[in-house]
Amino acid sequence: MLRVAVVGSGPAGVYAAGALVDHGDVAVDVIDRLPCPYGLVRYGVAADHPKIKSISATLKKVLEGPAVRFLGNVEIGTQLTLQDLHRHYDAVIFACGAAIDRRLGIPGEDLPGSFSATEFVAWYNGHPDSPVDKFVLDAQSVAVVGAGNVALDVTRMLAKSADELRVTDLPSHVLSVLADSRVKEIHLLARRGPAQAKFTTKELRDIGDLANADVVVDPAELELDEASRQTLAEDSRARRNYDVLQEWAERPTTTRPRRIHLRFNLRPVEVLGGSHVSGLRVERTRPDETGNPTGTGLVSELDVQLVLRSIGYRGRPLPDLPFDQRTGVIPNSAGRVLQSGEVVPGEYVAGWIKRGPTGVIGSNKGDARETVAALLADAPSLPPAPVRDPEAVDRLLAERDARVVPWQGWCCIEIAEAELGRSNGRERTKIVDREELLAAAAGAGTG
Ligand code: NAP
Repeated sequence: MLRVAVVGSGPAGVYAAGALVDHGDVAVDVIDRLPCPYGLVRYGVAADHPKIKSISATLKKVLEGPAVRFLGNVEIGTQLTLQDLHRHYDAVIFACGAAIDRRLGIPGEDLPGSFSATEFVAWYNGHPDSPVDKFVLDAQSVAVVGAGNVALDVTRMLAKSADELRVTDLPSHVLSVLADSRVKEIHLLARRGPAQAKFTTKELRDIGDLANADVVVDPAELELDEASRQTLAEDSRARRNYDVLQEWAERPTTTRPRRIHLRFNLRPVEVLGGSHVSGLRVERTRPDETGNPTGTGLVSELDVQLVLRSIGYRGRPLPDLPFDQRTGVIPNSAGRVLQSGEVVPGEYVAGWIKRGPTGVIGSNKGDARETVAALLADAPSLPPAPVRDPEAVDRLLAERDARVVPWQGWCCIEIAEAELGRSNGRERTKIVDREELLAAAAGAGTG
């Protein structure tokens, strides 16, 4: 029987585990540094998108299967090294995502009040590494930089009322900060034109139908150059987005308490402020001859007290594994890890660390299948792991004082979160603190 470790229990890792198990005669350990499974489904997808979050039911079926073990709260590099993995498994698939944010590289980016969307998303989704007091929404005006789906998630979370969000599993401290939010104006800034925005249309439409916020689009910013007209003719997603934006540009605003300004052809050039963000200097852009945005020298200032940059993610290097600093991924060929252009036997990648932070959750399915096909094709020639007893991994982790959360432990966390929810009149409330999660996993409840 083939023994495989999958590092990361987000969609890419679990789809890979599922494809391995479907093949048969494979035992898979899915290892995650967090006590809870599902990666970005739990800690990335916005809480008010239950349909997308429901993908966890599919992932659950794989993780609770007899050929799969979940080993939560185990860190690769410290509690298990790459050497350990090679000793205990015939092959390893790294599916650890792209955990860090890209940077704007402009003055003032690190001022208090300027954050990455990654930080904001981790906070509102109750990531155990995010301090509970990280955000206080006392800003009246916020700039969200970037024109992708994460920017829309962040904008929606800022625009919705706490009452609208009570039906979600958002942690209690997040709900109370949102309830006290003073935010009135949200400026979403795209550095290119409306035809080049990365949004998917369904996610774009979601912000046009909020009880608490109007969307404002300036018709002048929807004017198209020849290349953009061509894009709209060829790209149905861009066309649908543009139709939605045009509809909003013509729609009168109402008296809803918040306003979302969708702005195009503006790039941030400096975050302003002394001890805290007090504004954002932006420059009008136009496409250069290659279609990339270039500054026009026309500069203005937005009066904002909070800046959230939502300009994409990057992978993080893993101990002892090759890493391409330029692209932020582990170099690979169809999922086989490459070191200086040569295949490293028994090492594979799947998901964002393989292809970069693109695509929707479903994109990881085909991606994982490709990796698993490569692994299974290589399997007959892979050197077998010298230690083949699953309990040997457990003993090693116990020697290293790892407090492993097995699948049953996660089931206890789920029960504890449902109990916590019921105790404050909600269906479920996320537990955030790592110690509380571990106590719940041990069956101790949350008190
Ligand atoms: P993204 O789709 O790549 O969008 C990043 C945005 O940041 C782009 O508009 C990009 O503009 C802009 N940007 C990059 N560098 C910039 C700079 N220096 N200054 C100003 N703007 C800059 O990334 P994302 O929003 O983080 O999403 C990551 C992936 O997750 C995407 O595939 C997304 O669809 C997916 N996702 C899906 C959902 C959903 O389905 N509901 C929700 C969240 C995320 P340019 O185009 O000009 O580079």
